[in-house]
Amino acid sequence: SDTSVPPARVRPLTCAETRRGDRRVVRSLGDSTVHVSATAPRGRGHRHPLSPPAPVRPQVSAARHDATFGFSAVFDAGTSQEAVFEGSGMRELVELAIGGFACTVFAFGQTGSGKTYTLMGPLAQSEAQPVAPCVLGLMQRSFACLLEQSRSAGLALSASYVEIYNEQVRDLLSPGPPCALPLRWSKSRGFYVENQLSVEFESLEGIAELLLEGSRRRRSSAHALNKHSSRSHALLTVHVRSRARGAGGQGTLCFVDLAGSERVKDTGSAGELCVEANNINRSLLALGHCISLLAKPRGKRAHVPYRNSKLTRLLARALGGSGITLMVACVSPSSRCLSETLSTLRYASRARSVTTRP
Ligand code: ADP
Ligand code: MG
Repeated sequence: SDTSVPPARVRPLTCAETRRGDRRVVRSLGDSTVHVSATAPRGRGHRHPLSPPAPVRPQVSAARHDATFGFSAVFDAGTSQEAVFEGSGMRELVELAIGGFACTVFAFGQTGSGKTYTLMGPLAQSEAQPVAPCVLGLMQRSFACLLEQSRSAGLALSASYVEIYNEQVRDLLSPGPPCALPLRWSKSRGFYVENQLSVEFESLEGIAELLLEGSRRRRSSAHALNKHSSRSHALLTVHVRSRARGAGGQGTLCFVDLAGSERVKDTGSAGELCVEANNINRSLLALGHCISLLAKPRGKRAHVPYRNSKLTRLLARALGGSGITLMVACVSPSSRCLSETLSTLRYASRARSVTTRP
């Protein structure tokens, strides 16, 4: 089955971007295509405001970028979170997880492109000021859907939540300082995290609390691109079991919030941050490599190196095995993000021909 024709989302310009005069260079033409149209200095791509000014180049060296990319659906700046849930295939994926399949969703794109927003909505300002229900993301909407069905269908739901930080898998639900968990492989289960905590939940408040608690333990550090950017990949998995005795397999629904892909020199990273950025980029490169191999016809495919990173090991089933995967490509509309946006859109169109055997 062709499970991975991805949708794409173009977020609105942020206030900060508008204030500093960024131009909108990415548009949806309303026909499931994303159109990029801009003039950028040749060779260099965009320049970070903190880096020294580039030598003045004559106008003739400006390169024109005009490109159109096709997706299963395109959500532009005005699209609501609900419309993304309904239009991305997320509801169908929830149904499949209830039906016993291993399902995975991931958003990808550079730091600040709206991955976390798409999955979880904006961060709550404080405990007293929870976010408005209309901006909740794919995760909370899926939880509501699962809980609704769990009552009538007699399902037991539990969640586990881990992050991959500097190539270590850490449990985000177990109390105390995060410790590294071993990643193992068995013939029956494939790659799995040993000793990860799995917590039952029966209400939206229950799972929201787990999500909040885990997200607080996640590693993030402030660097030049985005104050709240995630420096780790986080995987929240809901395990769906039937309460009826003797009922067979369990379905899973895994939400993957990838850390940002960006060039180290653009983020003003140094020391520890630089190690982080290299680890993030390494696992994203490994992911891209696996996806590009998987996109080749089965007969012509070389060995897929899932073992090259923790991320690709954990996603092995989702990408190439028996899983069903939904990918959402996220991009910024800003002129300053042009080169990253083009690479995300190219990467997404490479992933679209990956098929699995659920
Ligand atoms: P990422 O996780 O890819 O680094 P975020 O999800 O943190 O990016 O988004 C970066 C910023 O843009 C945040 O302030 C977020 O609230 C805002 N944002 C992202 N997508 C949207 C959107 N569709 N509508 C409004 N604001 C958005
Ligand atoms: Mg994020």
